[in-house]
Amino acid sequence: MKAIVYDAPRRFQYKDVPEPQIEADDILVRINACGVCGTDLHIHEGEFAPRFPLIPGHEFTGEIVALGSDVKDLKEGQRVVGNSNEACGKCFYCMRGNFLLCLNLRSYGVTQDGGFAQYLRIKADRIFPIGHLSPREAVMVEPSACALHGMEVLAMKPGSDVLLFGAGPTGQVLAQLLKLNGAGRLVVAAPAGPKLDLIGRLAADEIVAIDRNDPKKHHSRLHELSPTGFDYIVEATGSASVCEDAIQFARRGGTLLVYGVYPEADSVRFNPFDLFRREITIKGSFAQIDAFPRALAYLESGKIKVNEIVSDEFELKDWGKVLEHAWSRKGIKIAVIPPS
Ligand SMILES: [Zn+2]
Ligand SMILES: [Zn+2]
Repeated sequence: MKAIVYDAPRRFQYKDVPEPQIEADDILVRINACGVCGTDLHIHEGEFAPRFPLIPGHEFTGEIVALGSDVKDLKEGQRVVGNSNEACGKCFYCMRGNFLLCLNLRSYGVTQDGGFAQYLRIKADRIFPIGHLSPREAVMVEPSACALHGMEVLAMKPGSDVLLFGAGPTGQVLAQLLKLNGAGRLVVAAPAGPKLDLIGRLAADEIVAIDRNDPKKHHSRLHELSPTGFDYIVEATGSASVCEDAIQFARRGGTLLVYGVYPEADSVRFNPFDLFRREITIKGSFAQIDAFPRALAYLESGKIKVNEIVSDEFELKDWGKVLEHAWSRKGIKIAVIPPS
């Protein structure tokens, strides 16, 4: 089969590799589409502890073409998505039921082969059949599941004033979830352009254009929109400077959710007296492990709209172009299509 294979950071090839062999509790999926995520760009750089050689890609959808002998509840021909994260079930955190914090967390597309290929071998218990979602929409199930977990971490009070930084693919989903789950008012701040316009159509009550060269403008607009600040701030850009900047917009007693994927070496400075005096809470949210059924419910029911979020499709062989397009930040979400 054809696949994108990395044998070291920044060293990849589009090449023929043997089709994966399945075991008793596995299935074989023919990939219809696989989404490109910020995480894949970090993996390209060797961040996030990838295990090389590696076929990346963790936002996959496809069709079951073979089942292991122990797999009972799935059928050949079913269209499916796959939860890329697998906990060990045995470590300190797993024994406490905290599976996402597993010390031996395995991820398809990070620590084992993923979806930038024609076929994927995956444990059957990671698989969820889909209904009417197109492959283009189905690649958004995984990022939506991650955003849902972010909502759980946020544990927002209904009717809150919310400020979201970022209008990338995850921001687009988070904005809709925030609106559906209790934001009394949702303000979204991001660079001007089609992404900010889309989030304005999909969910935001107010959009504020960020000009990184002239931050005073959006600062004063945000202070004007809410002079006492916001109850919840969600930082979904992955930029340390935006994160550092965000805390000033927290209302007394407010919460900052650190959601973006940051370069591993970045750090942010906060004034501890300010956090202490204003009783600010900072929370982190990483991926998900049990949110797929709920994400599917939101997408299948049309409550979360993802069709316009997937802005571009590329063929698998054009991985180099995919990277350039992703770095250019011109589109929103890319779906990669392997040869059929
Ligand atoms: Zn992702
Ligand atoms: Zn574990």
